[in-house]
Amino acid sequence: MTSPASGTDTAATLPDYAPVPLSALGPALNDQGYYVGRVERNLYWVTDGSYQAAFLTTKDGVVLFDAPPSIGGNIRRAVDEIASANGVSNKVTHLVYSHSHADHSGASSLFEKNVIRIGHEETKRLLVRDNDPARPAPDETFADRRTLKIGGERIELAWRGPNHSPDNIYIHFPDHDALMLIDIVNPGWAPISMSNLSEDIPGYIAAPAIALDYPWKHFIGGHVGRLGTRDDVTLHQQYMADIDASVRKALVSVDPTPFFQKYGDNPWAAVGALFDAWTEAGAGPVIEKYKGVLAATDVYTKSTVFWVMESIRLDLGFASYVHP
Ligand SMILES: [Zn+2]
Repeated sequence: MTSPASGTDTAATLPDYAPVPLSALGPALNDQGYYVGRVERNLYWVTDGSYQAAFLTTKDGVVLFDAPPSIGGNIRRAVDEIASANGVSNKVTHLVYSHSHADHSGASSLFEKNVIRIGHEETKRLLVRDNDPARPAPDETFADRRTLKIGGERIELAWRGPNHSPDNIYIHFPDHDALMLIDIVNPGWAPISMSNLSEDIPGYIAAPAIALDYPWKHFIGGHVGRLGTRDDVTLHQQYMADIDASVRKALVSVDPTPFFQKYGDNPWAAVGALFDAWTEAGAGPVIEKYKGVLAATDVYTKSTVFWVMESIRLDLGFASYVHP
């Protein structure tokens, strides 16, 4: 525990950031720390302000999509609240995993043992490997596409290649005008560290166009306190395109020579300082452009620029130097 005095000292030394635009914020949470709302008809979403899950109430029970541990027991409360208000069953019969990450599925074990868990075959492989009792592996898997028909409802699952993670899927609700795609676009906000901690940057950058190919009006992104629109996805796409263009400019305009002159016998120092210089040069104009448009670009753009820069160098071979 931190004493109040030293806590105050620490807070005083932390940096200030630009105010969060009101457009980034979602509905107020209740006393238990969650908000549950209708997406469309019998499709609902629940948030704790940082994470999101979704559920469909059907004539045979509830189908849950993700179970973030930060929402945890409030998922059950949200389902109960909606089921009792509408006089439908609150029994969770199915749980669909968007991908294997613990921060979106770590409350899976709160649900009954006989819940049918559904996920991509790579999600199963990863969950079996990682052997976390909080996240039982899926009972049913699919490779590329699967249509679920549960309790009279239709849900289209698709794997379209690696992006944020190797196993992240598109969850389309064609009869609810909604798309659920986790950890790609944070509506109203910049991605967090290194493009939302994404493993495959070319796949991450391509994902919003795939998302926009589907017909939908409501976007469930898995993070932040509100749902998204098509405009949010387009704005994110523009932000990432601006990062890409700015990084390419930085890579060809910052001269590496002085860094190696200065740190001759310590190439790691030269590379470290050069990466920092490329990152600064790439991030500056993007932070400026999106100030007041997307929340927290001053917090996280540098981190995403660094990761996109490494992908542009290493995946795409841009500005690669071949010794003569
Ligand atoms: Zn994730």
